[in-house]
This record gives sequence, C-alpha cells and structure tokens, in this order.
Amino acid sequence: MKNVVILGSTGSIGTSAIEVIKEFPHRFRILGLSAKTNLEKLKLQAETFKVPYLAIEKEEVAKALQSSLSYPAEVYVGDRGLAELAQLDEADIVLISVSGIKGLIPAYYALKSGKRVALANKECLVAAGDLLKNLIREHGGDILPVDSEHSALFQLLKCDERKFVKRIILTASGGPFLNWDIKNYDRITPEMALKHPTWQMGPRITIDSATLMNKGLEVIEAQQLFDFPLEAIEVIVHPQSIIHSLVELKDGSMLAHLSQPDMRLAISYALNYPERSTVNVKPLDLTELASLTFHKVDHERFPSITLAYEAARKGHPYPLILEASDEALVEAFLKGIISFREIPYFIEKIINEFKFTTKPEKDPENYLDFHRQVKDYTLNLIERKRA
Ligand code: MG
Repeated sequence: MKNVVILGSTGSIGTSAIEVIKEFPHRFRILGLSAKTNLEKLKLQAETFKVPYLAIEKEEVAKALQSSLSYPAEVYVGDRGLAELAQLDEADIVLISVSGIKGLIPAYYALKSGKRVALANKECLVAAGDLLKNLIREHGGDILPVDSEHSALFQLLKCDERKFVKRIILTASGGPFLNWDIKNYDRITPEMALKHPTWQMGPRITIDSATLMNKGLEVIEAQQLFDFPLEAIEVIVHPQSIIHSLVELKDGSMLAHLSQPDMRLAISYALNYPERSTVNVKPLDLTELASLTFHKVDHERFPSITLAYEAARKGHPYPLILEASDEALVEAFLKGIISFREIPYFIEKIINEFKFTTKPEKDPENYLDFHRQVKDYTLNLIERKRA
C-alpha cells in the first residue's frame, strides 16, 4: 500500500489523480489533500476517502473545514500547510499539482525528506531546477514527471542507452491559433485563447499553450529533468496530440510515445512506477486516426519559444525571470490589460532589462522573493507603457 499526498487536489490534475487512485483501493491510500480555495470540493474529497491530513490557503477557511468534517483530521494552512503535507513521515508519493511558483515549496520539502515527487508543476523546475536536483542527490528522493511530454520522454529514454540518444523532441499542439493569419492575432481575446483544441487545463497553462510559452517552459523542464544540452532538445508542432514526444537515436531510428491525450495515463504511470496498471481511458485505435501531421515551429508566430531557449541559454536566474514575467503577463492578458501579442513583447523586454544583484539560491523563499520582484517589475513596466 502506497500513501499518496495530492497537493492541488481540486484542480484538473488533482481530480484526475483521485479518479486513477479510487480504482485501486488496495494499492493506494490518500494520506493528504490540499486546495487553494475550493472548500466544498476539498471537503467532498476528504469525506469520501477519510483523508487524515488536509491543507487550504486561508486560515478562516481551514477553521470552517475542520469544524464541518465528520471525522478527525489535521487541517493545515497556507504555504506552511503545503510544506507540512509534503514531508509527512508516512507519505510515499507527493503529487504536486498546485499551479505556479508556489509548487516550489512542497517540491523542496518533499525532496528534502527524500520522497518520490510526482511532478505536475513545471514552474518549480524551470525556476529552481538546480536547487531541486541538489536535494535529490543529497537525500535520495526522485521526480517522476506528470507532464505528458516528459512522462513520454521518461518512458522512451528507458528503451535504449543514453549514449545512443542524438536528440529528444517534444511535440506541441500549436494551440488554437496555429492556422490563423498572424495579422489577426491582434483580435485574440482571452475567451478565444482559453479554448484549447486537445487538452482541458487551467487558465495559465491554456494561455501558455496558445502562445507556445508552455512548450518553451517544457524545453527547460526537459533540460532539467533529463540533463541534455539545449541543442539536443527540439520542438515540433503536432496538432493531434497523439505522439507526446520522440527520441532520435544516433543511427537514425526514432522512438515515439503514443496515447490518447488524457493526463490520467501520465498520472497512473508516475504513481505506479516501476509497475504499470490498467487505466480507465479509451484505448488508442490507430485505424480511427485520420492522420498525424507535423510542422516546424514558426518562430515569428510563436516568439515565446525563442525567448525560452534564450533564457535557458543564459542560465539561472533567466528561466525564473522568464517564468515570473510570463505569469504576470498572462494574468494581465486575462484581465484585458494587455493584448495577446504583448505577452512575448514584454517578456523579451524584461529578460533584457530586469536588473538583479544576487541570484536566488539555497532557500525556496529566496526564489519566491525574486519571483515577486520580477512580477512587480513586469506590472510596473505595463503601467509605464500604458501611461
Ligand atoms: Mg505538457
């Protein structure tokens, strides 16, 4: 029996994880759950599985939760709560599906306790990959990716010896504006950008998928997870999202990972590893697929990819600056403050202009602080531009 902690249990990954787990009550026990604000859903999940440890962002909501439960449970609050749940003695696997840089806190404490982390939060690896990898070296935990492309790569890289790998290729759906005339990009509204053609996800990642910044962040995520040089990591557009990644070997062979675009597969793989288990997902029927198509990335259409490579090439803390400015800009776009095209426009400016005296290191708080500074700088820049 494995004890699983799910942080961000009311979001799309967390909900899917619970669906995967509930099919196997003799294999998994839900030890802890956390939510940001969705009290009702968290309570329902907690009651269904009688989960002993819970966390929610605000103190008064935590009190309301504690007093309304029909069984005794420990309810923690805020970032501290995420850290507590991530390092529970009995926890075997910590699934981190909270969104944004906040995921760094539980990732740090779980790895510091030598745990296995099933990681659906890419921001923490992009922002603080070296910090987390040092913890793995020191404390013996590990990270299993819960991002479809990286789960695919993790599986593919087991198929042959590393020395035979020439490059790894991440696929990108291209988002909803792949075939639009670029001239019409000025007309893109948040509502349009929030409709992703193949995946159901939270708002930030959906906008990031429309700009392809999501793929840019995933390039850095892959660099951190698999330690390949940047030149050996490529992106190819594949609108059907059936092939999740490819590995090209030195002799010209290519290995591809195919499946339905359903996150329950990557979640189940990470939870069961090194075993595999059945998953309640419709099997992929190749004869039903009309076609699988592939295109080169159009860097003029998607400058975010270029910016991500640039940040990765410059090294720490530029990926963190990239990620933090993107977070602020996506929020501004969703509020109607800036246009779709201004997201990469401002990111480029911030990468070039943001000044810092020290790079964050050692403590996750330093990274979060730095992140806040970049976000503030970004918001100021938007203000000045609009004034
Ligand atoms: Mg992905």
